[in-house]
Amino acid sequence: MKTSEILLGKLNTEFKTVSAMIEIYCKKNHRSHSLCKECQALMDYAEVRLDRCPYGEEKPTCNTCPIHCYKPEPKEQMRLVMRFSGPRMLLKHPILAIRHLLSEKRTVNPKPSPHCSNRHIRLQEGDK
Ligand SMILES: [Zn+2]
Repeated sequence: MKTSEILLGKLNTEFKTVSAMIEIYCKKNHRSHSLCKECQALMDYAEVRLDRCPYGEEKPTCNTCPIHCYKPEPKEQMRLVMRFSGPRMLLKHPILAIRHLLSEKRTVNPKPSPHCSNRHIRLQEGDK
């Protein structure tokens, strides 16, 4: 499980969840001691997407989100990671897994409020 240096609050929790899932997937499927190059690239990509998500901390879970921001290739990779690691998360990281399942039940705002992406907030705070 990794922590992001740039993501705030709930987005960082989501990054922890997704990074834990990628780690589980890589270990079992790529037999890599630490993360393989490909999975590291996917994790970095996920962090950038979370940073730029227009919903910011109000972000719905990715499978309920009306905006599909992933490019086809990482999207497919991530789909495989989720399918493999999803059920395993309950055993390894039950709190993160349950939190994620609960947020899938939340109703989704069809349109994000303006200027609430992590990136926007982060850059604004940098200006002060
Ligand atoms: Zn890997």
